[in-house]
Amino acid sequence: MKNGNCIFCEIISKNKRNFIYENDNFAAFLDVNPKVKGHTLIVTKKHFVNTFDMPESLGSELLDAIKNVAEKFLKEKDVGGFNILQNNFPVAGQIVMHSHFHLLPRRKNDGFNL
Ligand code: 5GP
Ligand code: ZN
Repeated sequence: MKNGNCIFCEIISKNKRNFIYENDNFAAFLDVNPKVKGHTLIVTKKHFVNTFDMPESLGSELLDAIKNVAEKFLKEKDVGGFNILQNNFPVAGQIVMHSHFHLLPRRKNDGFNL
């Protein structure tokens, strides 16, 4: 279920076993243009467009991926919390049309503002 013109399909197929975290249906890797230190993308291994294209059955694996990535960052003393963000469709700012969630580790005075 790879989409030929999709950058995330490309990354998923080329970076096997080289992710921050992965389970059967999700892989996590750093955003190339981070909003904060450790800005991570949690990406479906299959090509879905966004949340509304994803089967509900992936919900628990999505939570598993989010929690496991967060736990890794919580080992860093200055990380105190997270924002989890997702853009759905271009009008809401979605640029890469392959389903993904942004996990932003937050530190005091990191300068990021929603
Ligand atoms: P969105 O579609 O949620 O608005 O944003 C897509 C995100 O993917 C952006 O934060 C952007 O920096 C990131 N991104 C785009 N292309 C690449 C890439 O080739 N590699 C990685 N690691 N991140 C990318
Ligand atoms: Zn894709």
